[in-house]
Amino acid sequence: MTAEFGATAWGRAWLRTAEPVAAPPDRLRPKARSLARNHAVTSLTITAGQVEAEVAGHRTSLRLPLWDDAERVERLVAKALDNAGPLAPGDLPDDLAAAFRSEGIAIAVPPDALTPDCACAARRPLCVHALATLYALIQRIDETPALALDLRRQAHQLPDPPSPDWTPMSTINPAHFYKSPGETNGPTTSARTRVR
Ligand SMILES: [Zn+2]
Repeated sequence: MTAEFGATAWGRAWLRTAEPVAAPPDRLRPKARSLARNHAVTSLTITAGQVEAEVAGHRTSLRLPLWDDAERVERLVAKALDNAGPLAPGDLPDDLAAAFRSEGIAIAVPPDALTPDCACAARRPLCVHALATLYALIQRIDETPALALDLRRQAHQLPDPPSPDWTPMSTINPAHFYKSPGETNGPTTSARTRVR
């Protein structure tokens, strides 16, 4: 049977963050698992050093440290990809996780290295929403292991930052930016016709 959380070496590493071996039982864990299982974690986005989501109406984020030895990580990734046969998109070679382990590079971070932020009023550091985000992250990484690399790789390996004439989303009036299909079709079609 495939594990619901942590079906891959990559997801399993992050499961240890949600459920540290030495940690006492936590009554929030079953609730958090259930939120993740029942798709109550939405808009999950994974970027370098950050996971964001909306959980039962609360904006939640987890910040975490990147790998500090980026060069060594890249060397291991390149070597494993060279040796691997064809991979499905988003998959990683099996022996990459083993190579990380033998080089002492932790795939995940310990719970105390997470910086959670949540819109709820819970006083504990990892509220049920942050924990549910972590479980949803584990599921997502099991589906697409390469996300485990995106999460902890240096930002320079991500697409170039926006150019100086980039318009921040916050300055765009959503009412104008997100036009309904009817509104966009009319003017766009006529403009194109005019150019031709
Ligand atoms: Zn919360």
